[in-house]
Amino acid sequence: MSMNNQGRPTSLDGVENRRRTVAPGTVSPEEMATISGDRGLDHEEKLIFELDHGAVGVDIADVQISGDRLGGMRRSTAIGLPGLSEPEVVRHYVRLSRKNYAIDSGLYPLGSCTMKHNPRLNEKMARLPGFGDLHPLAPQSTTQGALELIAQLMNWLEQLTGMPAVAMSPKAGAHGELCGLLAIRAAIAARGETRTRVLVPESAHGTNPATAAFAGFTVDSVPGKPDGRVDGEALKAKLGPDVAAIMLTNPNTCGLFEGEIVEIARAVHDAGAYFYCDGANFNAIAGRVRPGDLGIDAMHINLHKTFSTPHGGGGPGAGPVVLSDRLAAFAPLPLLVADKAGLRLVEDRAELPEGAQPFGRMCAFHGQMGMFVRALAYMLSHGRDGVRQASEDAVLSANYILASLKDVMSAPFGDGPCMHEALFDDSFLENTGVTTLDFAKAMIDEGYHPMTMYFPLVVHGAMLIEPTESESKESLDRFIHVLRELALEAKAGRTERFAGAPRLAPRRRLDETAAARKPVLRWKKPDELKQAAE
Ligand SMILES: *Cc1c(COP(=O)(O)O)cnc(C)c1O
Repeated sequence: MSMNNQGRPTSLDGVENRRRTVAPGTVSPEEMATISGDRGLDHEEKLIFELDHGAVGVDIADVQISGDRLGGMRRSTAIGLPGLSEPEVVRHYVRLSRKNYAIDSGLYPLGSCTMKHNPRLNEKMARLPGFGDLHPLAPQSTTQGALELIAQLMNWLEQLTGMPAVAMSPKAGAHGELCGLLAIRAAIAARGETRTRVLVPESAHGTNPATAAFAGFTVDSVPGKPDGRVDGEALKAKLGPDVAAIMLTNPNTCGLFEGEIVEIARAVHDAGAYFYCDGANFNAIAGRVRPGDLGIDAMHINLHKTFSTPHGGGGPGAGPVVLSDRLAAFAPLPLLVADKAGLRLVEDRAELPEGAQPFGRMCAFHGQMGMFVRALAYMLSHGRDGVRQASEDAVLSANYILASLKDVMSAPFGDGPCMHEALFDDSFLENTGVTTLDFAKAMIDEGYHPMTMYFPLVVHGAMLIEPTESESKESLDRFIHVLRELALEAKAGRTERFAGAPRLAPRRRLDETAAARKPVLRWKKPDELKQAAE
């Protein structure tokens, strides 16, 4: 599938022209105050409660209900909803939506997040009334089609990963990690053992140690090697009778394949522990490598990354967890079973199929149905060979970026090849006074969302770029050109673009620490607002 360059000119003229528009001596765009307070078509937007002017947006019949009929429950004070007309409400939310940088507005190079195009076909399928209007409490005899869809998706996930079972209910990657560790905990308890330690490489995504701690384990950090992979010897040395599991990401967060993974899996199993794999980077290997063949016992799959469902504020995710033979019996409720009557979700322990020992359940109901429809639509429209092609193209795109920029930026783990992410560090910025943060903020002025910064933590001033397979070569060339020019300017000591960037965005650089620690919460209770107005 080829994308045109997000509707922008494919030549680089736009970049050059924009540079010439700020002539010396004129008021620069960032300094120009406007009469309205808006900046161009980027409107300033207040909170909807501050826009309130008491209007009523819809006509509601003046119903006379006696207090008795409501059993004295009738509200005596105003509900405090903002009063606006319908067009004002619509404009408010459309303006807010325009402040949202999205994969639909431009290249979104965040590493680890797999911000790829969400095909519109998926959206169309998810909105079919039979799926979109489904109620989770509808009698199962009336939802056989939806259950069939879930069963098909489960089959695809099992086939692609080479695993015998999958738990569908986790609602995100981190939730899937928790599901996997709870299954591991149940399996260990069923063996009559107590194991308390979980080994996590120091390059891991923050959710890994957080999940292990949340599930009641102590986290033991495993160092990496200078080549960006986990230190297999150090990992083996840490194995012991109190180790419940290791949590490893493959390809790892440095965008590299863990070559020793089969040997690590063997050592982990020999020590009586389980191998949890963080599968968030499945987009690099889907259709090429089956994690089950590598000795993995549990792995979550971020449907919202690999299988292209909207995420990152754009929609809910889904994090199904595939399970090996060693863990399949402990999968959480509900279980999808087929019998004479058709497909059935078993929720009740009295009806469990033979051998099932579910550890509990992850959430009410059965998971994110809308995501399931989108993911299966993606799989069926690509086919197995197309899924494989997508992974190969994602890896090709990342290597193109690495190869095109490694002479002006610095790649900490050599010249590649990498998997689906290109990782740079900040050594090319040494002695320039420009930091990774400055560099990323300058990208905003150029119309790009920054890459992932300062992650993985094992790389100084990390910049992690994941272009995905859905960018065209023209789009990648334009991105590479902008990053090259920025890098060359920084190295040449021309740092004007970096100090205080972004300058052309609706907001300048924020004090992120203060924003997190001392948030300004402007929402007021209706009576406080009224008092403030008086
Ligand atoms: C995205 C990601 C996660 C967490 O997934 P969510 O769906 O955001 O909870 C975990 N590990 C890695 C490596 C990731 O990229």
